[in-house]
Amino acid sequence: MKHPLLIEHGSIIDGTGAVPVSADMLVVGQTIAAIGPEARAQADHLPRVETFDATGCTIMPGLIDAHCHLSFDDASSNAELFTHRRNALSALVAAYNARKLLRAGVTSLLDPDSLFENMIDLRDAIEAGMVEGPRMSCGAYALMTAVGGTAGRLIADTGVTGYARVVNSRDELVSEVRRQIKYGADWIKVHVTGVIPRQAHKGELSVWSFDELKLLCDVAHDLGTPVMGHCRGATAVRDAARAGFDLLFHATGMDDEALDEVVKRQIPICPALTFQANMVDFGHRLGTDAALRNMFEREITDSAETLIRARKAGVPLLCGSESGFSMVPYGHWHYREMEVFVRYLGMTPLEALACGTSAGAFAMKMEGQIGVLKPGYQADLICLEGDPSQDVTILGETERMRLVMIAGKQMDISPLPPRKRLQGWTIASMGTQLTRELAFSNQYPNEPVEIQELH
Ligand SMILES: [Zn+2]
Repeated sequence: MKHPLLIEHGSIIDGTGAVPVSADMLVVGQTIAAIGPEARAQADHLPRVETFDATGCTIMPGLIDAHCHLSFDDASSNAELFTHRRNALSALVAAYNARKLLRAGVTSLLDPDSLFENMIDLRDAIEAGMVEGPRMSCGAYALMTAVGGTAGRLIADTGVTGYARVVNSRDELVSEVRRQIKYGADWIKVHVTGVIPRQAHKGELSVWSFDELKLLCDVAHDLGTPVMGHCRGATAVRDAARAGFDLLFHATGMDDEALDEVVKRQIPICPALTFQANMVDFGHRLGTDAALRNMFEREITDSAETLIRARKAGVPLLCGSESGFSMVPYGHWHYREMEVFVRYLGMTPLEALACGTSAGAFAMKMEGQIGVLKPGYQADLICLEGDPSQDVTILGETERMRLVMIAGKQMDISPLPPRKRLQGWTIASMGTQLTRELAFSNQYPNEPVEIQELH
């Protein structure tokens, strides 16, 4: 039997935005029993207590990544996701990747949509104790209209493509929402906006009518299921908010009207700007040209002002990494949204930490149970060397991680066994065009590319 654990001599960040306090913490069973002098007093009356020395460490709630696609396996393109992946194998790979998240201090994640909607199965396997991973809350297929989402014409006009399910009538919409709920979706995910290749210069456009969005929300809500939407642009955000969406991803490009609708309903926003931030700061290492990097930075800076206003008006901001793509690989960047919030939204590190922990409980439908270190809460916590209230980026240094606990159970954070390449899993690339100028120059514009097998 597992014994109560007294975590001694650490500094505690409780996840509410409060300043750190030096205190002991007692975990009994799945929950936090006591913090401070009471922790030791209670421990003294228990027959057997184990101790963990947290000297020099911070104890804080585990990170809650509110936007992470565990089935995508760090894909470098949508085409790879749609044409190279297999159902069972992608779920098995996701189980491996889930363990990377634990090692990065992530104890919960919201997976918005997955290949073959198979993250519903991974969630169940984790809950059943068959696979070790963070707590999961998930959507099934992302609902789209025939216009598609951000993958343009790669999305078939009907049926399923990769993580997407196109619905072409109100009847189809209603039956698909009900089907997803029947099979275990915690959330319904909708691509409210998409890119029309011929009109790409306009950015993402709203691809649903308001009535369709309203119908969708009503059907889901009647069955006790919340709705989350990928929305870029003022019209989409305004319509989604009015239709009854419960969580908004990105929500960039809001005008005053859209912002008003969001504020009125206090709809949480998960901006998921980490992808863009990585492109801005590190894109040059991948050969991305400066113009594209500037465009990504503008997406962040143009949205910063409205996001700051939303937050000041009480709208919760959640942290999402968009992990699952090669720009944001699993285990590396789950803390990074907090850094973005500090740098671009003017938050203090403690405010950003609250976004990455207590605010995220909403995404898990576990408010009041996780994301805060207080007696009675689930013991979902991490212990790491150093003080993230001074610098949130130390959360990215996984070698600092000493303890990762979910519901009072210590997770395995020993190094993962290395993984070999899966046959036919990624898109082969021959790299840069071999023009004669390049062939006969002495320069490498990028690092020489690794030639992958062709399948
Ligand atoms: Zn996403």
